Amino acid sequence: MTSATSNNSEYPGWRHLASGKVRELFVPEDGDSSKMLLVASNRISAFDHILEPEIPGKGALLTQLSNWWFKQIQLPNHLLQENAPEPIATRAMIVKQLKMLPVECVVRGAITGSGYQEYLRTGAVCGITLPAGLSDGDLLPEPIYTPAYKAPQGEHDENITYEQSVALVGPELAAQLRDRSLEIFAAAAARARQAGIILADTKFEFGVDPATGALTLADEVLTSDSSRYWDAAVYEAGTGKDRLASFDKQIVRNWLLKNWDQTGTPPELPAEIVTQTLERYRELFTKLTGENAPV
Ligand code: ATP
Ligand code: MG
Repeated sequence: MTSATSNNSEYPGWRHLASGKVRELFVPEDGDSSKMLLVASNRISAFDHILEPEIPGKGALLTQLSNWWFKQIQLPNHLLQENAPEPIATRAMIVKQLKMLPVECVVRGAITGSGYQEYLRTGAVCGITLPAGLSDGDLLPEPIYTPAYKAPQGEHDENITYEQSVALVGPELAAQLRDRSLEIFAAAAARARQAGIILADTKFEFGVDPATGALTLADEVLTSDSSRYWDAAVYEAGTGKDRLASFDKQIVRNWLLKNWDQTGTPPELPAEIVTQTLERYRELFTKLTGENAPV
């Protein structure tokens, strides 16, 4: 996140605090530190770069999908029942301002992406040894918890072992993060499967409510930015990487892998990649929720 230098904002009553890669963060102008306004932009990031151009409508899709998942998950979450300012109501959340924990709670039901690269090098992910001979995209015998250290602004998040997460947040919180993450993942994966979708992996962020001390689910949940989702029918009919029909950022990552050597500024995304990504994000929303997409 980068800190803003000015404290004016376009939303009355809110002062701009910081910019994440995807979200703009605001706090109440009157100094109330109990809440925060999180506004999801249409920016898309991959390999730690913010890309050009934006994906129109993406902010609303992520926000509305998070809101839907928050309702399905039986755990305290950061949403406050307050309406965000009108021009951005569909892509903003008013939330409890939490003390965020520096652990990204990643759960993997399948092995792919950076986890697969780590497995190829070491036979393990975050210290968890996996069966030999797995291919990219294989489902794991059971979901695994593979935490990452949420690096401060400008640095790369890095995979850590469970023991390292204990060193960061203490044994009790570390165990809660792992157990809650695995529980939410299992319930969400079952729900997605009913909709013909495989939840391959995802990342949760938790914080502690300073008022009550309660461990609270925060940020975005189970969106196509924070998760990998695959079409179950295609997965079952296919082999190798052809099985992986993604409803997520993988479309963009794959295009970048083919068209960029990962040095310097990434190239601009072509119009058809923008359209395809938006289309897949919309399809995911509709398939999971059974509702019309907000854009
Ligand atoms: P970074 O912040 O490192 O750029 P990011 O690109 O994932 O990461 P965004 O999603 O753009 O960030 O911004 C959301 C930010 O808000 C994250 O840093 C997240 O940890 C933080 N956040 C989410 N929910 C809360 C909350 N309830 N209280 C405080 N901070 C929160
Ligand atoms: Mg984020």
